[in-house]
Amino acid sequence: MARKKIVAGNWKMNLSPRKAEKFTKEMRSVINTDNVEVVMCVPFVYLTMVQEILDGTKIKIGAQNMHYADEGAYTGEISGKMLSRMKVPYVIVGHSERREYFAETDTTVNIKALKALSHGLIPIICIGETLKQREFERTFEVISKQLAIAIHDMSEEDIAKIVIAYEPIWAIGTGKTATKEQAEEVCAAIREQLRTQYGDIADSVRILYGGSVNEKNANELFNMPNIDGGLVGGASLKPSFEKVVHYQ
Ligand code: PEP
Repeated sequence: MARKKIVAGNWKMNLSPRKAEKFTKEMRSVINTDNVEVVMCVPFVYLTMVQEILDGTKIKIGAQNMHYADEGAYTGEISGKMLSRMKVPYVIVGHSERREYFAETDTTVNIKALKALSHGLIPIICIGETLKQREFERTFEVISKQLAIAIHDMSEEDIAKIVIAYEPIWAIGTGKTATKEQAEEVCAAIREQLRTQYGDIADSVRILYGGSVNEKNANELFNMPNIDGGLVGGASLKPSFEKVVHYQ
């Protein structure tokens, strides 16, 4: 069965409430596709507003992070259980900015992803190498380790649901996109690792590329055999996000 592409926007910590409302309404009126699953991952405080604006459209919402506990004394945190109760279908887990600035590790990524799945959320699990690791030709080793830990203890059923985003850190927010060949070879390696562990279910897992995707490079990247769409940062805040979504 063909894998449906996903284009997920990651607003990060951007936009005022008024701009968020205006932009979501704009996207609601111009995005219309059955070929691609569109997800807008917005700041927690905007989830309900964006959800209401997008009600009745095919665009879905996602959170950018979650806590692995269901509830408790974790001031400032939001649980997967809360997101699930608020009918948020997607959650980004282990974005490199979370790993860099908030001390997330492969292990916490695994715990969060498992918890997300247990609440019926779809985790978009981010993995990616630094520039130094690439230059020292350690990309495949790094990615393989991150992936192995991120999916530890997942059942075949879990694996069929997750989304993996290969995001080379050197390409995030830098305007420096991986070439389609660089992105494809890592996404293909990720799928092969999944196949070794889980067999043919690997063919149904969506593997996204992220790192300076825009309306100009989306088409060539998303048409590679093992790239099933993208996780888009900067370009998800611009009107041209519509062009990334309608990349074909
Ligand atoms: C991201 O935030 O995941 C990302 C890929 O950002 P950008 O598209 O801006 O590089």
